[in-house]
Amino acid sequence: MRVVIIGGGFAAVQFARTLRKKLRASECEILLFNRENHMVFHPLLADVAGASINPNAAATPLRQMLPGVACRTERVQRIDLVNSQIEFDDGTGLLSRMPYDHVVVACGAESNLNIIPGMSEHAFGFKVIRDAIDLRQHMVRQMERAEAASDPEQRRWNLSFIVVGAGFSGVEVAGEMNELVRSSTRFYRNFRKEDVSVSLVHTRDVILPEVGRSLGEFARKKMEKAGIEVILNKRAVAATHEGVELNDGGVLRGARSFARLERHPRRWYRICRWRRNMGAFSRRRI
Ligand SMILES: Cc1cc2nc3c(=O)[nH]c(=O)nc-3n(C[C@H](O)[C@H](O)[C@H](O)COP(=O)(O)OP(=O)(O)OC[C@H]3O[C@@H](n4cnc5c(N)ncnc54)[C@H](O)[C@@H]3O)c2cc1C
Repeated sequence: MRVVIIGGGFAAVQFARTLRKKLRASECEILLFNRENHMVFHPLLADVAGASINPNAAATPLRQMLPGVACRTERVQRIDLVNSQIEFDDGTGLLSRMPYDHVVVACGAESNLNIIPGMSEHAFGFKVIRDAIDLRQHMVRQMERAEAASDPEQRRWNLSFIVVGAGFSGVEVAGEMNELVRSSTRFYRNFRKEDVSVSLVHTRDVILPEVGRSLGEFARKKMEKAGIEVILNKRAVAATHEGVELNDGGVLRGARSFARLERHPRRWYRICRWRRNMGAFSRRRI
């Protein structure tokens, strides 16, 4: 019997391990297809972005975690239910097929950058290791630009960051960004901590709603003490060339990158940023 598992996150790994324990190799061949050869430990992604840990500390090789399971770093493109086959590619564009007896779909969720107008042009996801590295590099690049800027307004523009959504991930990312940029100011000559701005925008009147009001308030005070501006009861409705538009008509202006993390039942997360290039804002990986 052959069981094909699509995905390599918590769900797929736990399932593969459990099945391997229950069924001997002679009884069941288990093949796990994942786009990456590692599992990402998402709770540590914010620490990667904030340079608190190295990227490899947030990823574990699947083969190491899953002895007795054949791991394939290939993307499944299609499931042919009629013929019980999967169609997959290894990134070169060539498609292959493989028959299965059972298929388990554990693909998680994707970042959906289209949920807010303008976001797909000025945003990037926050789901994989690469996203966290990109965010970290972006912050470093912004600091380098601030160091080179002669105009104080431009300098502050470079050092302004916005995080939208104060759930666990948003709070963690805002804290890490704030810590990284503020603690790095000692290495630069052209700007100080006072020039740094990290804002956290949240739709409700209390952050971290999951932990209750008093702990949420405690966290808000801690964040404000650390220099983060917490903006409550506001929602980002658009990302434009001008900045981030809020539902009350206000606009968060300036040369900012901003971060946004959200969840919906399929649990998607994202970080968005916007930046100016020769007078126009563009989405661009560093
Ligand atoms: C920044 C962040 C912080 C989080 N913090 C926490 C936390 O503190 N506590 C908590 O409980 N949860 C947290 N979560 C949520 C938690 O990580 C997810 O709920 C969990 O990862 C979901 O596991 P999964 O296996 O369903 O999907 P995923 O972990 O998303 O794994 C899906 C895998 O499938 C692969 N895949 C998708 N499509 C294909 C395909 N066609 N072919 C091959 N492979 C494919 C993907 O590459 C991915 O590796 C966090 C998530 C994020 C993004």
